[in-house]
Amino acid sequence: MTIRSTSELMIQVSQLRAVIFDLDGTLIDSDEALIQPFLALGMERDRITFGHPIEEACREWGIDLARYVELYDTTEAQPFAGAEALLQSLPVWAVCSNKHPVSGNAELNRLGWTPKVAFFSDAVNGAAKRCEPVIEALGLQPDQVIFVGDTEHDEACAGSAGCEFIWAGWNPRTAQQSPRGTSFASLGDLQQHLSQRFTEG
Ligand SMILES: [Mg+2]
Repeated sequence: MTIRSTSELMIQVSQLRAVIFDLDGTLIDSDEALIQPFLALGMERDRITFGHPIEEACREWGIDLARYVELYDTTEAQPFAGAEALLQSLPVWAVCSNKHPVSGNAELNRLGWTPKVAFFSDAVNGAAKRCEPVIEALGLQPDQVIFVGDTEHDEACAGSAGCEFIWAGWNPRTAQQSPRGTSFASLGDLQQHLSQRFTEG
């Protein structure tokens, strides 16, 4: 009983220490940039879905991964409105993305974004992303971070790691799905929420 109370108390008083973001469809408006190489390599637009590791999608859809990465234009996708201001306001933030590491790192460099930790999908094995290694690399516990993402896969990642999840409601594709759970209509609203959360506890 005492142990249980202590554990509950610890969860209640834990302070938010870092925010982990998915990249595509969450911080950058990249749907169209992601679609273009698939179209160029013969995929039909209607068959394309989002949120998978790029290696897995290419394997499943019979697309050559190296050609996809070659054709992906890392200069096209722009940040969602308010992304820059939000990131600058955060004491610690990280990226956990299913993007290919070559494309993902090129995009971070172009935008001048320097997350404390950036994990992309495993380019060798095509393994789907997980929040746990990111939280560990940050030196934090799951109840000290929030994961922000735009797909059910992202929500499941947060659930597996035991951390809180926030939906990217500023992405029209996500907003149309009317996700259950916490969602914000703009990155400005999320910034306001997070600034309060960082000072709580
Ligand atoms: Mg995404």
